[in-house]
Amino acid sequence: MAEPEVEQCDVAVIGGGPGGSTAATLLARRGYKVIALEKAHHPRFHIGESLLPMNLPVFERLGVLDKVRELGVFKRGADFETDDACGYNVYAFSRAIGQSPPHAYQVWRQDFDRMLYQHARECGAEAREGHEVLRVEQRGPRESRLEVRTDDGRDYAIRARYVVDASGRDALLATKMKLRRRSRQHQSAAIFGHFRGADRRDGEDAGNVSIYRFAQGWMWMIPLPDGVMSVGAVCRPDYLKQRRGRTLEFLFDTLKLNPALWQRVERAGLIGDEVHVTGNYSYDATRMGGPGWVLVGDAFAFLDPVFSSGVYLAMDGAERAAELVDAALREPRCERALLRRLERRQRKGMARFAFFIHRFNSPVMRQMLRSPRNTWQLEQAVISMLAGDLFDTPKVLWRLQLFKLVHAIGVLHDWRRSRAERRYRLAQARASLGRE
Ligand SMILES: Cc1cc2nc3c(=O)[nH]c(=O)nc-3n(C[C@H](O)[C@H](O)[C@H](O)COP(=O)(O)OP(=O)(O)OC[C@H]3O[C@@H](n4cnc5c(N)ncnc54)[C@H](O)[C@@H]3O)c2cc1C
Repeated sequence: MAEPEVEQCDVAVIGGGPGGSTAATLLARRGYKVIALEKAHHPRFHIGESLLPMNLPVFERLGVLDKVRELGVFKRGADFETDDACGYNVYAFSRAIGQSPPHAYQVWRQDFDRMLYQHARECGAEAREGHEVLRVEQRGPRESRLEVRTDDGRDYAIRARYVVDASGRDALLATKMKLRRRSRQHQSAAIFGHFRGADRRDGEDAGNVSIYRFAQGWMWMIPLPDGVMSVGAVCRPDYLKQRRGRTLEFLFDTLKLNPALWQRVERAGLIGDEVHVTGNYSYDATRMGGPGWVLVGDAFAFLDPVFSSGVYLAMDGAERAAELVDAALREPRCERALLRRLERRQRKGMARFAFFIHRFNSPVMRQMLRSPRNTWQLEQAVISMLAGDLFDTPKVLWRLQLFKLVHAIGVLHDWRRSRAERRYRLAQARASLGRE
């Protein structure tokens, strides 16, 4: 059998989502021959529509901020339910204490991802669509061979000096190298759809992402362009398994579990009667890279999406990975140390999000988010976290540490109170038995 043709490049980027497009753009701009490979064709559907303020500086550096502005709905903040007359509490990004911009955007991902991939192409990357990477074989620290199949059935190979894996939740390299590990602490799945005619918040809050809780998880409402609202629930996988083929009714039954959300959706129409279901188990890879390869975005790790962090983490990670690839190709000796530093940074940032995610439905966190107090600017530090500013701003980071301490004290207090209540009930029961 004839050997398939072999092409050469400096960097092969697997995946044309936000992470892959960012890496491809920046490396092409630095003069490298970049081949980007996306197995689907843009525009393709993708979930993950709400962006964070800290994404805006990345857009600016990429040169796409105006295009995002054209595509997006203005997002002033995130709101969470409260028990008062207003019904919700807004965490407005303008109150953040770090350097994060005072707003963000929400986008149709198919348009956003297509724009970013096209931008990578305009910046000099050879951005291919309908090209799936089937295998990656590393033959040396600066020689990887990728086997690619096009969707019209043609096979070919690429020899690359560096591989950036941004293949999203397929996590091509991490899966093949058996580096992927599921989170034992957090498992979830999602069910969602797009509605026309759902109620937006009033006035300047109209673009907020709204987060609601229910016993099995949490729900989102994300306003999108043209009056569309993305509405969905993230829940325990065993809850979702109960739908047994009744996916459409199950979505509605689930949304009804939160009356405040349902009130905003009940008169709206589900577009195309189309319901999406996805498992979104949290996971990470035991390593972020090695000589000649690096993982970016969901190909490295995935967190529950309650704080809309995925696209930002993918693009920020890709920007830093591009710097690393550039440095490693010029000065191979520094590669190991740079990789270690990048991985440490990424894990620390994700752990800060994860602290809030893993406790999101706990009574103490619920109370702290429902009626926040701004003592020592702790509420504002939480807003900075919600804006994505959780890597580099010391005044945010130490307050988030303090928040953890206050939370731990709250948990202790809660535990003591419930223990005292239990004891009291037991004593009452004993006393009434004695009387009998
Ligand atoms: C229910 C849910 C809600 C979410 N909500 C939000 C949100 O509101 N905000 C937010 O920021 N994030 C959200 N996310 C997370 C977000 O979707 C991801 O974190 C983000 O898309 C990661 O970007 P990426 O570039 O790493 O991967 P992706 O965007 O997944 O891109 C990966 C690309 O690689 C391609 N690919 C895969 N394998 C191959 C291969 N072998 N060869 C070639 N191409 C390949 C895929 O086709 C895909 O286009 C949500 C996720 C879920 C599950």
